[in-house]
Amino acid sequence: TDPCAAPPIPEPKTPIANRVVLVLVDGLRYSEGLGHPTRQYVPNMDSIAQQGVIIEPFFNDGVTVTVEAIPAVMTGSWIGTTSFFDPDCQVDSIFSNTPYVHEYIRRQLGFSAQDCVYVLGPYCPWRGSFHPSYGPDYWPQWISTGGGDDANWMETQNLLQTTKPRFLTLYLPDVDHAGHDGNWTEYLAAIEHADEIIGELWTWIQSDPDYADNTVMLITNDHGRHTSNFQGHGDGCIGCRQIQCLAIGPGIRSGLISTMERTIPDIAPTLARLLGAEAQFSSGEIMTEILEPEMFLRGDANMDGVLDLSDVVTNLGVLFQGMPNTCHAALDNNDDNSLDVADPIHLLTYLFQAGQVPSMPYPNCGIDPTGATLSCVSHLRCD
Ligand SMILES: [Zn+2]
Ligand SMILES: [Zn+2]
Repeated sequence: TDPCAAPPIPEPKTPIANRVVLVLVDGLRYSEGLGHPTRQYVPNMDSIAQQGVIIEPFFNDGVTVTVEAIPAVMTGSWIGTTSFFDPDCQVDSIFSNTPYVHEYIRRQLGFSAQDCVYVLGPYCPWRGSFHPSYGPDYWPQWISTGGGDDANWMETQNLLQTTKPRFLTLYLPDVDHAGHDGNWTEYLAAIEHADEIIGELWTWIQSDPDYADNTVMLITNDHGRHTSNFQGHGDGCIGCRQIQCLAIGPGIRSGLISTMERTIPDIAPTLARLLGAEAQFSSGEIMTEILEPEMFLRGDANMDGVLDLSDVVTNLGVLFQGMPNTCHAALDNNDDNSLDVADPIHLLTYLFQAGQVPSMPYPNCGIDPTGATLSCVSHLRCD
């Protein structure tokens, strides 16, 4: 095989949600958001976090400015951007050096541009990648309102009611602008207003027959603000780095405060996975701990519904030949939450020497009653 050939495009996976809405609140410092002791400025996000999942702590682990952090959210990496003259809007702009999550979703799942929209203010948005396997044919449809939070929210409502996109990104810039203006009262008011929009958005989603109960909403920020001075941001202080990440909807655990530390590059792979795509060039990971545990069948490594020698062979292939497998939990035959040679041996002993029966879930598909720390993104036999 040609070592320089592009890696293959991943096959679609079983979706966890049919629709995803991503909300970006620019420059909301954690101490005025969900990190505030009473969460008094963000009552709607508080309610969503309590019904869904909040990841605490969640960090911008790269550069705490928007022009770096938004592309990192979109691509799941800090590989960054390149300046170029954008022929579509005839001004200097940037494109990202790795694909946007929209590109993975459109290419792998066949979503149209209209199904994959990004509502924001600027007339000339920052662009996705020119990656040879993805690129402009798979960019999102950018919808530029020329305005701020209210204009973007109005346009979002219009889209949700008319074209009904399956992956919608709503960008809310006003909190950051109010922060830079240095007026504390206006900064807090902007936070309350963004929170109000988010509350109305979730209420609307849950009231619409096309979106209710099959839409995941994820809310995050690009960066915070200096711990000591809310007017600015951009360095490595905790105020700049700590941000919010909360999610709600089908397949997302409810009422979970997830304490595994996560960072911005983990967002894109998680969003892609929710819809059934894979952010294959992201440096982040799917945040499996926020997902409802997947059903699987212990020992059924090749996912054909029966345990036999071919499962031992598949198990060895994953361990020693790097074979891909979407359900590591099913390979954990001895249920010790780690994958090693003891697992195929355990199954061999069961099959041929009347050894110990695999622990649940077996002989039926189910979740691990003792909890699996190994992930199971998809088990074909049990999905
Ligand atoms: Zn800013
Ligand atoms: Zn700072």
